Amino acid sequence: MTVCTLCGRNEAVFGRSYSGENLCRRCFCKTIEDRVRKTISKYEMLGRKDNFMVAVSGGKDSVTLLHILAKIEKSFPDVVFCAGTVDEGIRDYRDEALRLAARNCRKLGVDHVVTSFKELFGYELDEIVELIRRRGENGLTPCSYCGVLRRKALNIMARDAGVDKLVTAHNLDDETQTMLLNVVHGDPMRIARSKPVLNVIHPKLVQRVKPLCMVPEKEVVLYAYLKGIEFQCIDCPYAQTALRNDIRDMLNRMEHKHAGTLFTVFRSMEKIRPALEAFAEEVKLHDCKLCGEPTVGDVCRACEMLQELKVL
Ligand code: SF4
Ligand code: ZN
Ligand code: ZN
Repeated sequence: MTVCTLCGRNEAVFGRSYSGENLCRRCFCKTIEDRVRKTISKYEMLGRKDNFMVAVSGGKDSVTLLHILAKIEKSFPDVVFCAGTVDEGIRDYRDEALRLAARNCRKLGVDHVVTSFKELFGYELDEIVELIRRRGENGLTPCSYCGVLRRKALNIMARDAGVDKLVTAHNLDDETQTMLLNVVHGDPMRIARSKPVLNVIHPKLVQRVKPLCMVPEKEVVLYAYLKGIEFQCIDCPYAQTALRNDIRDMLNRMEHKHAGTLFTVFRSMEKIRPALEAFAEEVKLHDCKLCGEPTVGDVCRACEMLQELKVL
């Protein structure tokens, strides 16, 4: 049997190739909780009196993060937090995710707020997809609509709940993929804007923080498995992020051959970001003429998309 490098007693269940450690179940879970704690403190993500909302989709990352934060925050009785879920309206997919999100919140005694595309925008994603199909190709995928509308829905939900921060569950893989995607898309300046703690650039925008950004995806899954956390395993029927999948495959191959690649890419971007931020033009936001939400132009992207569909 391989013995745990940290406690020197228990049988190791995981070999962490980038550090050379073999870890038992208990020590592995503790290292993940410690890493989330350190990430929160390094980036000053959450204060001792902050009131925050965790965006919980029901998938592995968000549900696992909710469990870890519930454990960490037990030591901070002044902190109040809740969970928030956006129901995009995706038949045979979101219903199960919502049930799992609600069940995990009940188990942890966390208040759960739910909003939906239907309630906020008048249409479910399924209905929008049907409209795009009927009207013919317009270059936008279901994910393009979903991403823009969900970002807006999460912000409205968090602001209405009166929280100081919105916590999202982007893991290390998500973050490095996004950084490389920005480069591949020819928009490297976005690296300046997409970071572990997003800048507050308008009073109507709730600050977003990402405490899982230093935890690799496979370690999130292992934590959930070892802790018996229930999450949704099936993929969204509209998932078709071809370019992101290619970048994921490339990074996974690199990580497999050269352990630690994900961290190296993440840290390189962290080093580049201050220079990009100094160079980036300041973004000035105004209120959208149609919905009043913050936007760079006169009309926000969500209203634009809905208008194009003639569903406003
Ligand atoms: Fe939305 Fe696309 Fe994610 Fe499905 S895969 S939930 S459509 S962003
Ligand atoms: Zn151990
Ligand atoms: Zn708008």
